Amino acid sequence: MNIHEYQAKALLRQYGAPVSDGRVVTKAEEAKTAAGELEGPLWVVKAQIHAGGRGKGSFKEASAGEKGGVRLAKSVEEAADETAKMLGRTLVTHQTGPAGKQVNRIYIEDGSGIDRELYLALLVDRVTSRISFVVSTEGGMDIEEVAANTPEKILSFSVDPATGIQGFHGRRVAFALGLEGKQVKQCVALINTLYQIFVEKDAEMLEINPLIVTDEGDLKCLDCKMGFDGNAIYRHADIAALRDETEEDPKELAASKFDLNYIALDGEIGCMVNGAGLAMATMDIIKLYGAEPANFLDVGGGATKEKVTEAFKIITSDQNVKGILVNIFGGIMRCDVIAEGVIAAVKEVGLEVPLVVRLEGTNVEKGKEIINNSGLSVIAADDLSDAAEKIVKAVKG
Ligand code: GDP
Ligand code: MN
Repeated sequence: MNIHEYQAKALLRQYGAPVSDGRVVTKAEEAKTAAGELEGPLWVVKAQIHAGGRGKGSFKEASAGEKGGVRLAKSVEEAADETAKMLGRTLVTHQTGPAGKQVNRIYIEDGSGIDRELYLALLVDRVTSRISFVVSTEGGMDIEEVAANTPEKILSFSVDPATGIQGFHGRRVAFALGLEGKQVKQCVALINTLYQIFVEKDAEMLEINPLIVTDEGDLKCLDCKMGFDGNAIYRHADIAALRDETEEDPKELAASKFDLNYIALDGEIGCMVNGAGLAMATMDIIKLYGAEPANFLDVGGGATKEKVTEAFKIITSDQNVKGILVNIFGGIMRCDVIAEGVIAAVKEVGLEVPLVVRLEGTNVEKGKEIINNSGLSVIAADDLSDAAEKIVKAVKG
């Protein structure tokens, strides 16, 4: 689960990490008061969306020469003006995809004078099973680009969970960033704090790009992106409260409400499968036969008829879906329950694309009978490859 910059900064502030003062607004009328509460003489007006690259992004239907989603203002009036200009519009960045994201909130921040822009991130390294730091002097840029063109400018190390974060970690970062004097002490404190937040809140990713050295020579977190482990949200009510459902794929949101493991993808074949392994195998075999899956969907072992119905509705609500493959191996799951769910869903929402069903396992005969007697035009398949071949053929001709 991801959160907005202003929410991440509030968390940083709570733990004592250096961030600027700021106010979030959702209406243009609130902007003047909000900006007026900040010191000035520089204000930064920042679109809040769950995507990076806002500064270099551009709004849809932008006027000639119009700036992106991060704008500097020299007065309260100018800050309010820029807020009004951005609210409600769609911002496209290299991370949003071409559809972009609607800007519903603006963060107005006290502007900083920048001496240097640096890069700092914490993430879970799945290879070492540890929390890793990624550090670079090349801040404010795409770290992927730095990694591709000048990998020597990136320092990366992981922290041994048995010892936790130590002073030398912070000093190592400070040295790599070329920090001096009081900045070294600030860096050690910041590294300790970020590690503490990361562990305590079950974060998955915490990126500060840029971390800056201000004109006064102090470290400050100028931007912050943060994501949390969805499986650990249940034990952090404060983090769960930060969820912004308008930022999420509506299909994935609906799926999460019914406890379905669903991930939207770009292909044309909708899949309904039980078990994550079988779902992965189903996606692979669809690709093998020359098409692309529209989603990953594991309905789980103990799915009810209602859950299957919801799953089917979510699949058919995807405009990209040109055919559906139901692939069930009934172990704990019973084939007749799946069959009933599919039929109930089709009765409710209709079926405008070809549907291939492969059932195997517990109550398979009963399941097939239900489908055969339903009057639905279902293409029956015998095994996994037969099913994949049939759905790809039905879609591609
Ligand atoms: P992003 O484009 O989504 O990554 O948004 P950032 O918050 O990183 O802002 C983009 C860029 O705007 C930064 O790299 C800075 O160069 C600039 N910027 C952001 N805040 C300030 C500020 O307080 N003062 C100045 N001078 N520039 C800023
Ligand atoms: Mn940034």
